[in-house]
Amino acid sequence: MCRTGKEIGELKAVILAGGKGTRLAAHTQNIPKPMVKIGGRPILEHQVRLLKRYGIQDIILITGHLSPVIEEYFGDGRRFGVNITYFCETTPLGTTGGIKEIEQSLTDDFLVLYGDVILDMDLEKLVKFHQDKNSVCTLVLHPNDHPYDSDLVEIDIDCRVKAFHPKPHPRDTYYHNLVNAAVYIMSPVIIRYIEKGVSADFGRDLFPSLYGKERFYGYNSSEYIKDVGTPDRLESVTRDLVSGKIARLNNENARHAIFLDRDGVINKEIGHLHRASDFELLPGVTEAVKKINKTEYLAILVTNQPVVARNLCSIEELGDIHKKMETLLGLEEAKLDGIYICPHHPDKGFPEENTAYKICCSCRKPNTGMIESAMMDFNITTSGSYIIGDSWRDMECGHNAGLSTIFIRSGARNEGHNFEPDYSFDNLLEAVDFILKGSN
Ligand SMILES: [Zn+2]
Repeated sequence: MCRTGKEIGELKAVILAGGKGTRLAAHTQNIPKPMVKIGGRPILEHQVRLLKRYGIQDIILITGHLSPVIEEYFGDGRRFGVNITYFCETTPLGTTGGIKEIEQSLTDDFLVLYGDVILDMDLEKLVKFHQDKNSVCTLVLHPNDHPYDSDLVEIDIDCRVKAFHPKPHPRDTYYHNLVNAAVYIMSPVIIRYIEKGVSADFGRDLFPSLYGKERFYGYNSSEYIKDVGTPDRLESVTRDLVSGKIARLNNENARHAIFLDRDGVINKEIGHLHRASDFELLPGVTEAVKKINKTEYLAILVTNQPVVARNLCSIEELGDIHKKMETLLGLEEAKLDGIYICPHHPDKGFPEENTAYKICCSCRKPNTGMIESAMMDFNITTSGSYIIGDSWRDMECGHNAGLSTIFIRSGARNEGHNFEPDYSFDNLLEAVDFILKGSN
């Protein structure tokens, strides 16, 4: 149940289906882009079927110059078990204009999809997130493999949207790798911010005017959401549909993960690293992460960072270190699907400490709190998943959580601890090659 007391099925969906698809010219001479077929069905039909699967019945299609092609195919939606109505824009008004025109039909929270996007996601989980946060606007976000030329969205530790960083990104700046995936849930409150009759864009114009004013959240998803803007993409999306990958990545299906420790595995261990300028990726790391990204394993960072509790840096400065990590990985087209940190430390009584973080917590490895959070967020199954680390804490945490454990031989800090990893390698790349060889 949502805060308005409605079930997901009572949500309306609005699909922006007016795109011309000029870059797909060979496929779209007389048909609008959302009608391009993938696996024998128009993109739009894949979306309608997804909505229907989650019980969403009322769908409004905002169409453009080739509207009759769409209307003829879908009619009133009865054939697909849903109710479809249309709003045909005679003058295109960007992505937001049509929503303003149908304002009177949108009296409760609604879902927005773009008609040229192929997706399969757990909509119930998304709606629950939106409701739990009491959000008035929720954007689905994901890390992508080219953040350097993408519009980026920054969220805080509570997932609240903090900033937008439109491309191009100045050289020598670091950023988190989170990109607008073009799926939104909005409250009608948002429509007030749209000016009637003025061409505007959600990402470029509307969203930057919202943060700081409204309860505005980002939802990180690793599910399959891709636009089909170019012939190359059309080909790869078709391949993924045929192989079943698009459906498999829906959060309802359990996935495997490779959990990665940070210091000594991803970056050079220097002891209490607390300045971004000291962060340096180890050789072969981008290649290793990229190899994980090419499979269906999730790459998830789980790191103890007591530097915050010791007051060597703030949580924001720790974020800056991770911005550098994500940027360096992203420049080589590698990404982490999730980042989990424990900023705590149990030993109290030092004069310089940050007392708020000096606690006994369940997240500090060898405790399994970070693994458990990731399991919930990404629906990860531990059997068949791995942890790769360079300390006894990683190995014990992995063991406690039911993961296979891979030790990276380097750490002098492990002396005096007895632990038996399942496997040992010299570096991350060797470890990842070993896992992936076994999974083929
Ligand atoms: Zn902790």
